Amino acid sequence: MPTSHPVLSVVVPMYDEEDVLPIFFERMHPLLDGLGISYEVLVVDDGSRDGTATLLREATGTWPQLRLVRLLRNSGHQAALSAGFRRARGDYLVTIDADLQDPPEAIAELLATAREKDVDVVYGVRSDRSSDSWPKRTTARMYYRLMCRLVGMEIPFDAGDFRLVSRRVVDAVNGLPEDGRVFRLVIPWLGFPSAEVKYVRAERAAGVTKYNWSKMFRLAFDSVTAFSAAPLRLATWLGLLGGLLCGLFVVGALVVKLSGNSVPGWTSTVLAVGIIGAIQLLCLGLLGEYVARLFQSSQRRPQFLVGYDSLEDPGHHSYAEAIDGQSPEQR
Ligand code: UDP
Ligand code: MG
Repeated sequence: MPTSHPVLSVVVPMYDEEDVLPIFFERMHPLLDGLGISYEVLVVDDGSRDGTATLLREATGTWPQLRLVRLLRNSGHQAALSAGFRRARGDYLVTIDADLQDPPEAIAELLATAREKDVDVVYGVRSDRSSDSWPKRTTARMYYRLMCRLVGMEIPFDAGDFRLVSRRVVDAVNGLPEDGRVFRLVIPWLGFPSAEVKYVRAERAAGVTKYNWSKMFRLAFDSVTAFSAAPLRLATWLGLLGGLLCGLFVVGALVVKLSGNSVPGWTSTVLAVGIIGAIQLLCLGLLGEYVARLFQSSQRRPQFLVGYDSLEDPGHHSYAEAIDGQSPEQR
């Protein structure tokens, strides 16, 4: 049986990964044993329909640190990660994909960096994306640009979901009541001291991607709506624009009417349609503003998280460290 509180929890979401599993075990097992710390591998089976569950169950016979959590149905990568965050018991938690695109060998480096620099988050950052297809690279770039703007702060570019976090971060994330969280945004947003480890992302070791276009779209949509009410405000801006155009139209229509060139009924029809359209959009925008507020308050994100309190540190020894840990070059 695994120890009750391992140092490290490795959380692996898996959806229909039977092709890659044998290679996964072969590479992961000796590597984690070699770290010389207590660990658990928490596989979150995201409702796989192929042989994944059977292979996993068989493997528990030879790998006692392997722990299985199965979701009732396919709930998506981020939801599987949420399940892993809730269930993991380690002091540190590493999330890694099952397909070995993120090198498991880098786990040791993530852990060492967290301990040396005394940071709570270590992002695995891809040093190049040549293993991704062109459309994926381009959409990813657009995604990170947009997200940096929406989140309103630096988020590490090209950091996917390969990262290490400390127990403090796990607890903070679990304490967020919001649903549909996107980890790669929520974790930088929390603002814990962080560092980066560069790595080269490999090709998928076996099998095919489980992220189809609809799932990628879902991720992008969740990312935008979780951090921005801009789409809701679209109606307000359209309404204002419509109102402005309508004003110009009124003047135009009156000029046409006064010059006597208008077809009977044209002016009143055009004005009615224009004015009503603008009013409707403005009202929708107004509703949108209230919905946005309700949405934000329903997320109930903490307004702040305290990183240091001198009462807990009478000699002020760790104050400098607490500030250092948050220096921009470490992000
Ligand atoms: N995954 C999951 N549920 C899903 C889709 C994917 O748990 O609905 C897992 C998948 O098994 C893998 C990880 O999420 O471990 C990343 O997926 P994938 O490698 O297919 O994505 P890509 O690297 O192509 O973006
Ligand atoms: Mg992958």
